Amino acid sequence: PNLQLERAREQLRTVFGFSEFRGRQPDVLARILEGHSTLAVMPTGAGKSLTYQLPATLLHGTCVVISPLIALMHDQLRSARANGIRAATLTSADADWRDTMDAYRAGDLDLLYVAPERASQPQFCDFLTSSQIALFAIDEAHCVSEWGHDFRPDYRQLLPLMERFPEVPRLALTATADKRTRSDILSQLGIPQEGLVLAGFDRPNITYAIQHRDNPVRQITTLMAEQPGPGIVYAPTRRKVEDLALKLAAATGRLVLPYHAGLPAEERAANQAAFVASEDMVIVATIAFGMGIDKPDVRFVAHAGIPKSIEAYYQETGRAGRDGDPAQATMYWGAGDFAQARQRLAELPEERRSDERTRLDMLASLVETPTCRRAVLLRHFGEKPEKACGNCDNCLSPPKVTDATETARKLLSA
Ligand code: ADP
Ligand code: MG
Repeated sequence: PNLQLERAREQLRTVFGFSEFRGRQPDVLARILEGHSTLAVMPTGAGKSLTYQLPATLLHGTCVVISPLIALMHDQLRSARANGIRAATLTSADADWRDTMDAYRAGDLDLLYVAPERASQPQFCDFLTSSQIALFAIDEAHCVSEWGHDFRPDYRQLLPLMERFPEVPRLALTATADKRTRSDILSQLGIPQEGLVLAGFDRPNITYAIQHRDNPVRQITTLMAEQPGPGIVYAPTRRKVEDLALKLAAATGRLVLPYHAGLPAEERAANQAAFVASEDMVIVATIAFGMGIDKPDVRFVAHAGIPKSIEAYYQETGRAGRDGDPAQATMYWGAGDFAQARQRLAELPEERRSDERTRLDMLASLVETPTCRRAVLLRHFGEKPEKACGNCDNCLSPPKVTDATETARKLLSA
């Protein structure tokens, strides 16, 4: 294993241009290079891609990467190729699929990115048998779990595919998985219990705050004045996204653009590109925005309504401050948000209702806690924080007991 890691370190320097591994990258790499299937749960920005890209350059054969978003794949493709890695995507958007298939058959690909819907087709399985697979990497692996917040049925077809290649190790990757999601991923993807590598969830440079929403335009305007850098504002509906974007632009004079799935594809892509390139732009978006966007200098994430769950909250706020510099995550919630979410529970199929109710209750406990927010978050992910963080609203200005009672009253009346 040490010898393998030595080779990996050499590769890290020569291919990727980094001097050191980060966090638990070496633990994941050691397992993969020895052919052991692994579930890596590491926070956003921890460097999960490297844990399959590096083996792809060392192992014999192609690393097949299952990734849920085409935009995300193309970003990865660009950065892999920039490092001289032989990589390709096989998606409906690729005109050069014949060349890609030929390159795979010839053993000339280190990395092959595919979408889960492709991976679940029988012809794809036959195609894979035409050459040697080094590794299956399943990105955003929480999508395999119905308990996770982003279930995608196609992920359930991955196990039958991978079982056709039982000797090929599997590497599942995710940033957000509580205990139940983790055990779902392990069983749904056939990874042994001992294959779990769990890195820390704490993002110490993010200041968390959760406030009651009275006038979101005024509140977010104040936040923007405190945070001149790039920011993301999450709003619950397309209409609210557009409305907030206009009002915030008018109130602040800054560039504020909307992003949601109802916009024309070109406008969405242009707004996203503008945001990624900008040093001070704010994007107001639905949760359609953000997965896989690599922008290290996001200075704040605001929620103008409640997220779906603690996991969604962690993932969305986790887009702030990936560069390690101070960043702010503020949620503006209203009692009506919880009331509406509870109403929506009634529309769900019976078997999903109690899970969703539990999720909502957990979120409510984060919102109503008078104690350290970070501690509640970290405990949710199974960590045992030893002390209050000193970097959330409750630590920085402890609420008076009456405030906490007031919050509880508002929640209960919802
Ligand atoms: P994740 O998928 O875990 O959110 P990424 O794989 O996108 O994270 O990596 C985040 C950033 O960290 C990328 O810009 C990547 O190049 C960088 N990175 C990864 N590993 C290292 C390392 N060992 N040293 C320095 N930077 C790294
Ligand atoms: Mg990633």
